[in-house]
Amino acid sequence: MKRKKSMVLAIFILLSTFFCLSCHRSLEVVTDSQYMLDTYLQISIWTDNKDKGQKLIKKCFDRIKEIEEKMSVHVEDSEVSRINRNAGNKFITVSRDTEYVLNKASYYAALTDGAFDPTIGYLVKLWGIGTPNEKIPLSSEIDEALKYIDYKRLSKSKKNNHQFRLDKSGMYLDLGGIAKGYAADEVRKILIDHGVKHAVINLGGNVLALGQKVDGSEWRIGIQDPFQATGTYMGVIDIADKAVVTSGNYERYFTKNNHRYHHILNPNTGYPSENGIVSCTIVADSSTDADALSTGVYVLGIQKGLDLVGKLKDVECILVTKDRKVYLSSGIKEKVEIVDDTFKRVE
Ligand code: AMP
Ligand code: MG
Repeated sequence: MKRKKSMVLAIFILLSTFFCLSCHRSLEVVTDSQYMLDTYLQISIWTDNKDKGQKLIKKCFDRIKEIEEKMSVHVEDSEVSRINRNAGNKFITVSRDTEYVLNKASYYAALTDGAFDPTIGYLVKLWGIGTPNEKIPLSSEIDEALKYIDYKRLSKSKKNNHQFRLDKSGMYLDLGGIAKGYAADEVRKILIDHGVKHAVINLGGNVLALGQKVDGSEWRIGIQDPFQATGTYMGVIDIADKAVVTSGNYERYFTKNNHRYHHILNPNTGYPSENGIVSCTIVADSSTDADALSTGVYVLGIQKGLDLVGKLKDVECILVTKDRKVYLSSGIKEKVEIVDDTFKRVE
């Protein structure tokens, strides 16, 4: 009797191993890419039906387009553009998407004491980094611009949760530091709803890994070397089911008189953030949170940035400095491997 039981058990284990292996084997990767949200987007999913997988990725890109049309300042009739046109004037009703992102943006602006500030738009336009009009503004122009940046003056209507207003004419929202993160979170939702278990969503450096690799191991996500061409990694991080979002001074910039003027602006000084950090990677569950924090912690600087991240649950960071030092928050030290020994870990 005992022998019979153990034979049944052995057959059961054999069969389940076989099914498990064959189910792994039948999953294939489908990848597609597009240019949207001012950047290169790539989605890879592991699926047992390539046609369905391709259609699903298209659905994800459609969703990103929808988010772009609501939140981009380059889309004339986006909800954000409408708020900007009506600054100092009236409240504008927005969709749930924009409401969610504006609430998150206000939250992270307060949390970072204004280092992340969604009302940075006036300054972004003045510098024009990455556009044909990029220039070093006059200091008088910077002084003027600073009068239009204040996240506390992004107001929500007391009567209606979906209505927002900028309190002063000339103020200008720019969600470039958070919208990509939200788009990645929304793509993840679609994929989960359609039963996808393994995927990598990469929205211009905002990486969101869904589940783990098909073989059950963690994803190995490369951390861009800030001093080398795109795709050269200085470190690798092992994660499952996490967002890994990097803000770097190499993403968009111009050089004048041997100085790099980049796109992450310090709302206090009006100039590109200069505090030694050249890249800030945040690891978190939500890509929206990680995106806002990557920009905010970059501007906060090493000590204040590490202190803030240390206080947040399930949020970690990797800071790389101009002099090739790497600072890691306490919960991530074991997960990061520096693959280029010209970078030095600060313990
Ligand atoms: P990220 O690449 O996520 O760091 O976002 C950078 C983008 O966010 C810039 O291209 C601007 O559109 C916007 N931005 C720049 N500086 C700030 C800031 N201090 N707070 C919020 N958004 C910013
Ligand atoms: Mg960001």
